[in-house]
Amino acid sequence: MSGFGPEHLPYGVFRPRGAPERASAAARDAPERASAAARDAPERASAAARDAPRAGGAPRVGVRVGDRVLDLAALAAEGLLNEDPALFARPSLNAFMAAGPEAWRRVRHELQALTAGPDAEPAAVAIDEIELLLPFEVGDYVDFYSSIDHATNVGRMFRPDAEPLLPNWRHLPVGYHGRAGTVVVSGTPIRRPQGQRSDRGADAPAFGPSTRLDIELELGFVVGVAGSQPVPVDRALDRVFGVVLLNDWSARDLQAWEYRPLGPFLAKSFATSISAWVTPLDALLDRRVPAPAQDPEPLPYLREDPWAFDLDLEVELNGTTIARTSARHLYWSAAQQLAHMTVNGAATRVGDLFATGTISGPERGQRGSLLELSWGGSDPIALRDGSTRSFLQDGDEVVLRGRAGEAIALGEVRGRIEPAG
Ligand code: MN
Repeated sequence: MSGFGPEHLPYGVFRPRGAPERASAAARDAPERASAAARDAPERASAAARDAPRAGGAPRVGVRVGDRVLDLAALAAEGLLNEDPALFARPSLNAFMAAGPEAWRRVRHELQALTAGPDAEPAAVAIDEIELLLPFEVGDYVDFYSSIDHATNVGRMFRPDAEPLLPNWRHLPVGYHGRAGTVVVSGTPIRRPQGQRSDRGADAPAFGPSTRLDIELELGFVVGVAGSQPVPVDRALDRVFGVVLLNDWSARDLQAWEYRPLGPFLAKSFATSISAWVTPLDALLDRRVPAPAQDPEPLPYLREDPWAFDLDLEVELNGTTIARTSARHLYWSAAQQLAHMTVNGAATRVGDLFATGTISGPERGQRGSLLELSWGGSDPIALRDGSTRSFLQDGDEVVLRGRAGEAIALGEVRGRIEPAG
């Protein structure tokens, strides 16, 4: 797969397939694979025995290069990476993030030099021999609502006789606090949520599985620096470690009934999926493009030269691409979002996650949710197998993808819907 070249180097957390807690299942189900692995990679087996962080197949931090993953704990233990192995022999990126922006930059430069030569080879594992885990321990999770096309579409559907954007929208990045404990890694099955909904014309709410289960195509930003002061907008990106793709699964029927007056609650908190790979912000800084002037001009604490990330994004449902858009359509920037969410003095922690909100563009095929693509269910979309969808059915699989040109793929966020139960 292209897009994971030396200018990218995204971080993740992995463990080899067939690690101890899975060893018996692996031996039962795939003995030929286990013996082939032992035959083909004796040097890796001996390294594993020698190297404490690798023993037992414990989760550790890796970096992706092409179709392989470099084991950073092993590279550090062998002295090839001039860092403390304890930063990487862990089940999350948090310790490495907490080492701070200078360490992020230093490691990135070291890795770029290492991957240009053969020295890192023994620490490389094929991508299909590993299991990818949630890459960081999520602190607090905030979701914004920063696409003007998305907010306008939703306003038109739900308040057809009123101005689509509420009066606050152009003055601040609207957002809500989500549920950090239900952020899951790509590939995790998503169980259809149950809850209260108020069906049209009914006297009382009904309880049951959501019938309007949806996706939201988003980018998430991972905070790598703790702080207890408001973050100035022009320094905000210094605090951001990296970027993930994010699917904010949403039960529209639950949401419509519960959201007044405090906003999303159970309609969103059952699951949020993120990509297994965290793209370092440094890999994306030159993907910023100027954005249209904000009107009216924001208050001083949000004021900056308007910009957006030029990242191509797409949504696939059961093998059919149903939307293609770009992060350049976003109205509020990641820097403005972080400045806003700390302007009241709210502290940030390493591992905090904040997301853009659904990313839509001005055209019909650029909408980042089924709610918009099917226009509230009134205009179902056609899939390649001849079926149509307004919202997700059990068994449906959604994949979000993103990339910055040919060189950088943001990976994917994959999730399949399981029946309620
Ligand atoms: Mn959202």
